[in-house]
Amino acid sequence: MIPDFCPACDAADNPFALIQRETEQDFRGETFRVTSPALQCRHCGFGMLGPGHLDALRIATHDAYRRKHGFLTSSEILSRRKAMGLSQKRFAEFLGVGSASIERWESGILVQDKASDLLLRQRTERGLYFNLRPAGRSKHSFAFSLPGSPALT
Ligand SMILES: [Zn+2]
Repeated sequence: MIPDFCPACDAADNPFALIQRETEQDFRGETFRVTSPALQCRHCGFGMLGPGHLDALRIATHDAYRRKHGFLTSSEILSRRKAMGLSQKRFAEFLGVGSASIERWESGILVQDKASDLLLRQRTERGLYFNLRPAGRSKHSFAFSLPGSPALT
């Protein structure tokens, strides 16, 4: 909930405006400059985080880390999964990880480790999977990777 008054200057005319601010965030021993949303009083400049802004800040920081280290970002993981036509659950099975991990990586709450990032890249590489959904015949789609894919008989 956005307060309708400013605790710093007592302005009571819904003084808070949504802004994008740049901050320095520490993550895994490194500092990143990230831009994320916040609220700022139009009268005195007093700033605070609004609903969902802490999550947005965390995700922006995690994505900055991912970009710097060449990891897939949360939206890249999401779009690769969508391109394969898989649900989170089936994607998790396909990768051999827990579906909670997929959910956390895609939401940006958690950064995948290096081994998981490699796994994600290798198994979602374009050209290494087929979407075998038969037109109008099944809601299910099947995807597999080449080479070394498990039994495809
Ligand atoms: Zn104020």
